[in-house]
Formats: sequence, C-alpha cells, structure tokens
Amino acid sequence: MHPNLWYPYTQAKTAPEPLKVKSAQGVWLQLADDRKIIDCISSWWVNLHGHAHPKIAEAIYQQAKTLEQVIFAGFTHDPAEQLAEKLVSKLPAGLSRVFYSDNGSTAVEVALKMAYQYWINLEQKRSTFLAFEGAYHGDTFGAMSAGKSLFTQAFTDLLFEVEYLPFPETHMGDRTVMEREQHILSLLEKKLSQAGDRYAGFILEPLVQGANGMRMCRPEFLHQVCIIAQRFNLLVIADEVMTGFGRTGEWFACLRAKIQPDIICLSKGITGGFLPLSVTVCSEQIYDAFYSDNPAKTLYHGHSYAANPLGCAAALAAFELTQASEPIFRGMEAKHTEFLAPLKTHPQVEKIRVTGTIAAMDLITHQPGYLNQISLEVRQKAIAKGLLLRPLGNVLYLMPPYCITDEELAIVYQGMTDILNDLTPSR
Ligand SMILES: *Cc1c(COP(=O)(O)O)cnc(C)c1O
Repeated sequence: MHPNLWYPYTQAKTAPEPLKVKSAQGVWLQLADDRKIIDCISSWWVNLHGHAHPKIAEAIYQQAKTLEQVIFAGFTHDPAEQLAEKLVSKLPAGLSRVFYSDNGSTAVEVALKMAYQYWINLEQKRSTFLAFEGAYHGDTFGAMSAGKSLFTQAFTDLLFEVEYLPFPETHMGDRTVMEREQHILSLLEKKLSQAGDRYAGFILEPLVQGANGMRMCRPEFLHQVCIIAQRFNLLVIADEVMTGFGRTGEWFACLRAKIQPDIICLSKGITGGFLPLSVTVCSEQIYDAFYSDNPAKTLYHGHSYAANPLGCAAALAAFELTQASEPIFRGMEAKHTEFLAPLKTHPQVEKIRVTGTIAAMDLITHQPGYLNQISLEVRQKAIAKGLLLRPLGNVLYLMPPYCITDEELAIVYQGMTDILNDLTPSR
C-alpha cells in the first residue's frame, strides 16, 4: 500500500497490494507489469463505453480550452443547458427540472432534501421515508439512513429514522416470487392506510439493488409499489445512479418498469466514466413548491463543482454514444441469458439472474454475505485469468461496458466458468 493513500472500501491490513494500472482502452486495462485484463464490471459500474473513448476525450479537451468551470449560481452555460434538455428528452414523462451535483450519494442527498422540504413548503410536515431492505443509496448520512447495512453499522446512532419493506428478490426459475410480492404489497398498503401521511417519500433502486448483491425484482412488482405509494401521495424517488443509461436494457429502469417517479437520481454512467457528475431530476410539481417570494422556501443546497462544464461536455458526448449503443444494451440480456444457460446446473452456483446488461449469481456457501472471503479468492483467480471481477461477498456478477465484443464476452464467460470449476468446494 502506498504510504500516503487510504483506499476506499479497503481493509488495508488484510487486502492484497493494489494493482497498478498504466493505461486503458475499450474493455482492456493495461497493468504496469504489462499484463492486460478485461474490465468485466465497468470499473465500479461507470465506464459505459469502455475506457479512453476518443469522442469523450475530445469533447473534454475542447471544453477545457473554452470554459473549464464557472460558479453555477447567477451564471449558466451551454453544456449545462444542453445536457439538461437531452436528459429530459429521454427520462420518464414529468421529470423536467435538473439539479446538478457531482456524485451518486449527493444526488440522493439532494433528492431526500427536495422531498422533505417539499412537504414543509406545503406546510404539511411528513417525518420519514420508506425504503427497501437491502438498499444501497450511497455513503453520506442521508443516503446511509435510507440504506442501513453492514456498511453503516458504526453510525447507527447518527442516522435518521427510515422504515423498511422487504424486497422480493428473484432469479431464474423462482416459483415463490409472486406470493412474496403479494405479501409485501399488502404490507405496504396496510402501512400507508394506517399512516400514509408520515412518509415524505419512498426511495428505491428500480429493478436492481446494486451494492448489496445485485438483487433483482420483477418490473410488474415495482409498478404496483409505485401505484400504491403514489395513491397515498408519497413522492417516489428512483435512485438510478447505477441502473441509468441503458444498464437494465432500457434507457432507464423506470421506463422498463413503467413507473413515473417524482424524482430520479443519476450519476455513475452519466459521463461514461470520465468525470464525476450527477443530477437529481424532479417534476414540475416539486419545483413549483419551492418557487416563491418567500426565501425560506428556497432549496439551500449546492456544490462548488455543480454543473462543471467539463463534466457536462463529457456527459453530452457520452449521451451520443449511449444513443448509438441502444441496440447493444437492448440486446445484451439475450446474450447473457445464452451464456448463463450452461451454468444453471453448475454445483457451485445458484439464483442465476439477469436484467439487461447485468448478470449475477450466488456462489453457494454456508455464510452468504459481503464479508465472505470467497470474494477475494475469485478476485485473485480472475486476475490470473485476465479478468477484473469483484464479487460482492458471495455474489458474482458481470456488468461489462457496452463496447464489449461477442468474442470478448465469450472469453469472460469461459474464464468465469474455469474459476467456478476451480473453487475450493467446501466453504
Ligand atoms: C453507487 C451508488 C450510489 C452512490 O454513488 P457514489 O457516486 O458512489 O457516491 C448511490 N446509489 C446507487 C444505487 C449506487 O449504485
């Protein structure tokens, strides 16, 4: 470990030495020792179009020569305005006001503040939020409150109250899912009929819960959840920080689930992995509740780098590439499904699942969860095979950049199967 660095999500005492990356191109990372590995997870889920895409690089260069940064209060600029228009044109109907920040956690923080203050501005205080068990919304305090887990344990006393509903995770061949969904829907209905006006909103990761293990639900279920929540006037906050921009096989998971959230959070893929940027987009109805002669109704929130022009320029270029990749992200689910078929009978795996460009499975173990050391074994075996894989505990998943070729995807699945065949059997 470098003596001046503290790496994220890393226990320095037990973690292996980090690998130094010299350069990257497309799906390939080039290590300092000249090994080449395929980035099977788009580097923490951000590199939609692979690494070092010349079009995004060029857009950033041109923007840097023109306007690199300007205060975004009292001033505006073309890249921010153009990007807002492009995003609104693809988002679910009704989402029309774009608020810029610079990472996913912050986009969530802004959404929670918007939703909470919305009710205050309407003089109808609502004291808490609903969320799903197993959610991950980021590492800041509001986001942690809405996604309590192993990661937030040390801070429990400092987190605000959020109520949780079970999440009906499902997989191929799951026969009990509809029953579990019905149970959860009736829990929700009951909770809201008793005290629906307690909740400012319902925050959820549509279709796929990412960090807590690529847990997937059916679009039909999500659709029902939103119908019920919105019937009781809860604001639905869709955290699409991970699922946005084609990841689930549609531009946004909300479109696939046919839901119309009141607020959506986007980040990760927004610049194609080049620069930190995020947006929180809300409905006109929410915006209107802040539009007032009364200064107390203002959203007093903003970041130094809000709407950074370089980030916006990168996002505009990435947007064009995403548009051109539509057939690829729409078609990847079928490819994953085909490659996954032979694994259905593999003795080391269960609960195989796929949504759009994301494929996942559980490695069979006596101790499921994030702390399972199988993750480290897989990571190291993967590097030896030329793959970047980073299981979430015992959950092995793929989330490749859209530019991956069929041949490269075949290499990934072959390597993954070899690793599975070679795993220590008793765990
Ligand atoms: C990654 C992630 C976040 C947090 O984004 P950061 O940019 O890492 O702060 C929030 N929500 C979801 C669903 C995510 O996957």
